[in-house]
Formats: sequence, C-alpha cells, structure tokens
Amino acid sequence: MSVLAGCATSPVREKTLIKSPIYDIKGISYVSLSSVVDAYRLKYEWDSISKKLTLYKGDKHVVLALTSNIGLVDGIPLKLSGPLLLYKSSIVIPKDFSESILKKVFVKKRVIVPRRAEPIKPESAYAIRKIVIDPGHGGKDPGAIGRFALREKDITLDISKRLKRYLEASGINVYLTRSDDRFISLWRRADIANKRDADFFISIHANAAHSRQAKGFEVFYLSEAVDDNARAVAAAENAFLKYEDSSFGYAKPSNSLEATLWDIRYSENRRESIELAKCITRVACRQLKVKDRGEKGARFYVLKGAEMPSVLIEVGFISNRQEAKKLKDSFYREEVAKAIASGIINYKNKYETEEGFTK
Ligand SMILES: [Zn+2]
Repeated sequence: MSVLAGCATSPVREKTLIKSPIYDIKGISYVSLSSVVDAYRLKYEWDSISKKLTLYKGDKHVVLALTSNIGLVDGIPLKLSGPLLLYKSSIVIPKDFSESILKKVFVKKRVIVPRRAEPIKPESAYAIRKIVIDPGHGGKDPGAIGRFALREKDITLDISKRLKRYLEASGINVYLTRSDDRFISLWRRADIANKRDADFFISIHANAAHSRQAKGFEVFYLSEAVDDNARAVAAAENAFLKYEDSSFGYAKPSNSLEATLWDIRYSENRRESIELAKCITRVACRQLKVKDRGEKGARFYVLKGAEMPSVLIEVGFISNRQEAKKLKDSFYREEVAKAIASGIINYKNKYETEEGFTK
C-alpha cells in the first residue's frame, strides 16, 4: 500500500483560517487539502490504492474518498456539496465542508457568553437545523377522498403549514415541498430535500381504507421488510407513480467504495428513521388520544430518493367518519401539527444529546 502522510505545524490563525486560492469547479468552491491541513493543524493519510484520505487530530477523524461526496465524520456518514477531487495534481476539498464540518470537528470553539441567560448549546455536527416537510399529493393528484368529500391533498397542506410554524418557533429551518395546491412528482419531492441538504424529510399524508372502521395514526419508514397493511398503504401512496417520468432511477453507486459508503449511510439513516418514527408515534398518539397503529416499514417511493432520515406520517383515516369529522376541524389539525412537532423536538433533543446515537 502506498501511503502518503503529513502533519502541519503552523499555528492556527484566528480569523481567516484557510489561506488558499478558491477553485471554482463545476459551480462548487474548493480549497486545497494542504491549506485545510495547515489551518486546522491536522495530520493526514492518503492511501493511493483505495484513494482514501483520512484527516485526524486527537481522537477525531474524517475519512473522504476521491470522487465521492460522502464522508465519514467519526464514523458517521455526511454528505459533501461536491466530491473530493484531484485538481491540478493536488487534492481539493469543497470549501463549505471545510468551513462547516471540518472546522467544527477539529477546531475548539471559543465559549461565547450569550447576552440573555440561556443555556449554551454545544455546536455539534449532530445538531438538527433543517427539515423538509412534504405535504402529500396536490394539484391533479387529490390523494384519498374521504367522508364529507375531504381531500387528502388539502388536509396534508394545512397540517404541514401549521407544523412548519411550530418547528420554526423552535429555531428549526423548515422548507415545504409545496405551499399551494400544485402537483409535484414523488421523486422531485425527495430531490427538494436533497438539494436543501435537509437533516430529515417528513412526508405528511392521510389514510383511507375500504373498511370504514379502520382508524388511527401511523408512521412509516422505508424498509424492504413489510407486512400486509404496510404493503397496502404503500401501494395506495405510490399509485400516482404511473403518471410520472419513469426515466428517473435511484441506482446504487457502482464504484465499490462508494457503494460501501452508501450502504453505511443507508443503514444509518434507517436506524434514525425508525427512531424518529417511534418518537413521533409515541408523543402524537398520547397527545391526540388516537389509536396507536405503531411505526412500520414500507416501500414508499417518495422516501426512497431521500438521502437523509425520512418518515411518512398518516395522520388519520379520512374514510372513517369519526376521524374525518375531527380532521375537518381546523382546531384538531392544529393539535395534530403540535403533536407531530413535539415528537420531532423530542427526537431532536435525544439525537443531539446522544450525539447522533453514538454515545
Ligand atoms: Zn397520501
């Protein structure tokens, strides 16, 4: 194995840490590896066989792979805005990754005393800052039609907007995949979350069943292992797929290293998705006093393209008279939004204090 290793010795400069020309490559700003190593006083190892770069300092380490835009930060997969590249015979790293992630991992922050007396929250790579909420259906796709002529697309949009307000009040940046009655394809919804680089993706839906007795609240995550009920719900939610552009595919990366990183990221996301589903189900069912149908795995197309932990929430059955009557009422929809927000905040607190469940 051919290994190149190094260690920068120059001191950390206080203000402009990176002293490097900025390279604009395909619209992404890059800085040189040597300037990053120099600025944060890192050690590094470049394995020219596997094309893997390991940056380390103390017990912290970041692994990046050439041409891949997935890095492992202390074992946790994170997405870069662009891949690690070889440019003019030196390794270059996306500037924003260097500034947001590497700086956070490797440079100790000065403690700033807040003006108001509030607890100092550690700036962590595990902080949840950005969520994309996806109001299911819209435009030519009404979703399920329920009792009292309720349309799923209207319920989901209304609850999503209310949920956005609750989460924003907790300091989270929230984006909606749609904020009015318009059609958006399923793959585009996940794509919006990916482009926003969201910490997680939440798709909001309302259920309908042939049995008018069916009722309750349930949260799904993407899984290959499914039961019959989950299969039926997924089939209904995926139904509009036949109207969509089928040229879009989610191919697994072919490069073996990248494929391995993809697998790690996928299983990490699934673990987080299950945990998120549990938090939302538990809190929401208690607050709303509705039947807890639990958290389940299902093959939802809309979740498949999301590159972050993601769940699909069925807020109730609009085919059930009692639940449709409740969902028709804006006060109840407000309660639903509040309950989902509480579940998300619970998850956020747990995730952040346990540093992404690594503690
Ligand atoms: Zn739906």
